[in-house]
Amino acid sequence: MESQHLTLSTLASMEDYDPNSMPVEQARLLIKQFLAPVTEYETIRLQDAFHRTLAADVLSPMNVPPHDYSSMDGYAVRHADLSGSSNKLKKIGTAFAGHAFAGQVAAGECVRIMTGALIPAGCDSVVMQEQVKAEGDIIEIGSGHKRGQNIRLVGEDIVQGSVVLARGQLIRPAEMGLLASLGFNEVSVYRKLKIAIFSTGDELIQPGTALASGQIYDSNRYTLIGLLTELGADILDMGNIRDDKDVVRAVLLKASSQADVIITSGGVSVGEADYIKQLLAEIGEVVFWKLAMKPGRPLAYGKIGHCHFFGLPGNPVAVMVTFLQFVRNALWELMGQHPKPAFSFQAICTTPIKKAAGRTEFQRGILTQGEDGIWMVQTTGEQGSGILSSMSKANCFIVLPMEQGNVDKGSVVQIQLF
Ligand code: AMP
Ligand code: MG
Repeated sequence: MESQHLTLSTLASMEDYDPNSMPVEQARLLIKQFLAPVTEYETIRLQDAFHRTLAADVLSPMNVPPHDYSSMDGYAVRHADLSGSSNKLKKIGTAFAGHAFAGQVAAGECVRIMTGALIPAGCDSVVMQEQVKAEGDIIEIGSGHKRGQNIRLVGEDIVQGSVVLARGQLIRPAEMGLLASLGFNEVSVYRKLKIAIFSTGDELIQPGTALASGQIYDSNRYTLIGLLTELGADILDMGNIRDDKDVVRAVLLKASSQADVIITSGGVSVGEADYIKQLLAEIGEVVFWKLAMKPGRPLAYGKIGHCHFFGLPGNPVAVMVTFLQFVRNALWELMGQHPKPAFSFQAICTTPIKKAAGRTEFQRGILTQGEDGIWMVQTTGEQGSGILSSMSKANCFIVLPMEQGNVDKGSVVQIQLF
């Protein structure tokens, strides 16, 4: 299925398509069908490229290392001169890193050499200085040395013309250094995604002001700012918006004309002031709006024109869980990366967990390693989706699959590290 051709009518004819309670895996696959990565790119300075995405394969313009180098401080020799049990060679000069020895080395001769210096012409091996006896210019070397030892060979790391980094690669510290080591001071990267965010709710006020009765601070927008900053997106912060259908509609339309993606929180449930789903159906299209998962049961995904829309739940924990389970991978894909499924492994659960079958649960866990090296996990305690401190205490999700019922203490569970 190609994203351009996927319409809601084809979706509706798909087997198992239930926009009202979609299994987690199906929702992930469905979102993926709609994602077309950005194509616009720009060339920027290497020092500004951290956490950007490569827009083209990078071919190495050179061999790395570009020449044969010594990897030790010692003596550059001709291996053929070391056939005896004790061999006396004449030192004829010194090679430093950045200052090569210019002459030719003949039989019976050697050159004092430092790590990183070019191997002098005529030499084929380096003997560590700890393994020789030096008396003036006479260097005595024993037996047992291998031809080619202690030399970094030309092209040993990277061969000229080979693909060093592929399009779609996230530029991390290692890639910054690697690009520099090949002489690049500029790099071609995809443009940043523009992501509009807003919170909905008449009860929300800004931190920094006093709370009146019935009010709460808008925390979700700050969580989202953190999550999106980590991904290197351009954030268009549209504030918190009151529960007024016309106002929310106007803000959605404005955001969709300016951004690649809109992410909202709240108003996606079935309360009387929850307008997000109705509005999405009115001005765009709803792909799904309820998942068989906890927390995060109401999660709307759809499109408004070219803009992707994620309507996250209002509950603060559910915001983080749905973002990390669905939105982040989608954004990576839109950024031109090739995200892999979250890294997960098994651990022994040291607390019993109550769970009903029929939905996937993402409990907050604290993973520790026992003295025997075995990984153990406990829940952070109370798992209400308003308990944001649980996300701060946790270092992993305990992922309990759809069919799973109660978990006994001591069972093996699946862990996803943050
Ligand atoms: P809603 O989905 O709008 O019904 O919100 C569900 C719960 O999350 C309610 O208790 C809201 O007060 C709370 N909530 C909604 N938005 C936010 C927000 N931006 N920050 C903190 N809590 C929120
Ligand atoms: Mg609300």
